[in-house]
Amino acid sequence: MLERGVCPRCGQKMTYLERRQIGGNVYLYGVHVKKEMKKRTVKKCYLGPESQYINVSHMHRDENLVLRGLMSYDRAIEYLRRIADYLRTEKLREEERNLLSQVTRELMSISGIQESIGDSIRITKDELQDILMYYDRRDTRRMSKEGKDRAREIFRKVFSSGRKILDVEG
Ligand SMILES: [Zn+2]
Repeated sequence: MLERGVCPRCGQKMTYLERRQIGGNVYLYGVHVKKEMKKRTVKKCYLGPESQYINVSHMHRDENLVLRGLMSYDRAIEYLRRIADYLRTEKLREEERNLLSQVTRELMSISGIQESIGDSIRITKDELQDILMYYDRRDTRRMSKEGKDRAREIFRKVFSSGRKILDVEG
């Protein structure tokens, strides 16, 4: 963002980036110079210490993230959007997906709409077959005891109260 000349604070194009040394630290300001009705206005946006930008923006280049001097709700949401965009391009491993769904549930809980999502039950295609077989009460003799138990368990979960999501793998 900084490199592309966009002010991370207000989102407008910076005329230039100002580095101001105070004490031992360097602080950054996004400077916007505008000319309106022949009147020149200068707006300066405080962006925080330079060290923060350099370290973090390099560290998180892959995620296309730049930590900004100030944290706010809007920025936090923007980070989440970018993280979502990044994750969409990644091939996630099983553990990673589990961790992600855990974090997602935490976020859902913060947003207050957790209930509408309900529990997600992850099953394989074979297990889905077993559940349908169990449901139809046919061919259950061909199923293993474990398969039957699992099918019964999932069947009960799915048809218990509250909306459930059946997440079928593969
Ligand atoms: Zn600005």
